[in-house]
Amino acid sequence: MDRVTERKMKTRLLGKTPDELKEIAAEAGLPAFAAGQMAQWMYVKKVRSLDEMTNISKEGRRRLSEKYEVGVTGYSGMQVSADGTKKYLFPVACTKMRGLALADRGGVPEESLEHGAVEAVMIPDDDRATLCVSSQSGCRMGCRFCMTGRQGFHGHLSAADILSQFISADESDRLTNAVFMGMGEPLDNYDNVMRAIEVLTAGWGFGWSPKRITVSTIGVLPALKKYLDESRCHLAVSLHSPFPDERLSMMPAEKAFGMEEILDLVRQYDFTGQRRVSFEYTMFAGFNDSIRHADALSRLLRGLECRVNLIRFHRIPDFPYGCPPDIVIRRFQERLNANGIVATVRASRGEDILAACGMLAGRHGSGAE
Ligand code: SF4
Repeated sequence: MDRVTERKMKTRLLGKTPDELKEIAAEAGLPAFAAGQMAQWMYVKKVRSLDEMTNISKEGRRRLSEKYEVGVTGYSGMQVSADGTKKYLFPVACTKMRGLALADRGGVPEESLEHGAVEAVMIPDDDRATLCVSSQSGCRMGCRFCMTGRQGFHGHLSAADILSQFISADESDRLTNAVFMGMGEPLDNYDNVMRAIEVLTAGWGFGWSPKRITVSTIGVLPALKKYLDESRCHLAVSLHSPFPDERLSMMPAEKAFGMEEILDLVRQYDFTGQRRVSFEYTMFAGFNDSIRHADALSRLLRGLECRVNLIRFHRIPDFPYGCPPDIVIRRFQERLNANGIVATVRASRGEDILAACGMLAGRHGSGAE
């Protein structure tokens, strides 16, 4: 084994809680308050190296660096759309044993990692800047209309990988909102997503209000229940049809996580206050855009304090459906509104740089890049 392959990965401090940092500080012979200092350097000042933590002694930093690194990953590529939307490409290293989280890649021999990329999209809108973040490299849900789904599953992102998207975006200091709606199914990577949300919302972390964060899911059960119990962030559920058999034909996950069970669960929670639930409904011409669908969707959601987001579909190769004309989308929206369901049509952003919903493919992509 040569020197390169013998190299072990350092453990990343990014994503650690103050309690965990205290243990690391003690291990390096540092006082307990160094944990708070490290958290402040990483989550408030957003430094990228231990050397920048200048109120920690030089010797302390040296001892820390024997095993640890901050672990911020910078972006390796960036494209800007004509409408100001930006797509970032982030390198990620996945363990070859798929499904293993990367949170603890510390100590893992470098040769047991394979390298890929994930994308994050920054969407500017007046005084808002929303970051659409990825939670996995690829995805195992296999939705037919999604480029990420087509590339298969490569690995869960660690909390450090997720937080790096926030820290490394050029707009890091002026981000107002985040949606877990990039590559991957966030509730399939529950622990790392929740760890990232903890850092984003904690007083010792980024200090964001949970109201600034939305997790978008196809409704992975029972992780969805845990999410509703353990978080105060918003929820978006991908429906795409009011009929289970039709949904199944687009989303194989309907078989395991049926929409009726998902809705039964969602109805047990209160969305009349600060927390919101919305339903994502991608419009496919001739598939789910009829008045019959609008009426069935209205019946399905009746009595639930919610919103429906109608999403224009962006055609992808080898998929039979396109996007309905605007007039059909408007008629669908008006029918929902007339039925008492609040529905909005999501503005199409970043289409020219393949940054719209369902188009993210990273470097494992199959033809979208
Ligand atoms: S739409 Fe979401 S859940 Fe479905 S394959 Fe794509 S990334 Fe996965």
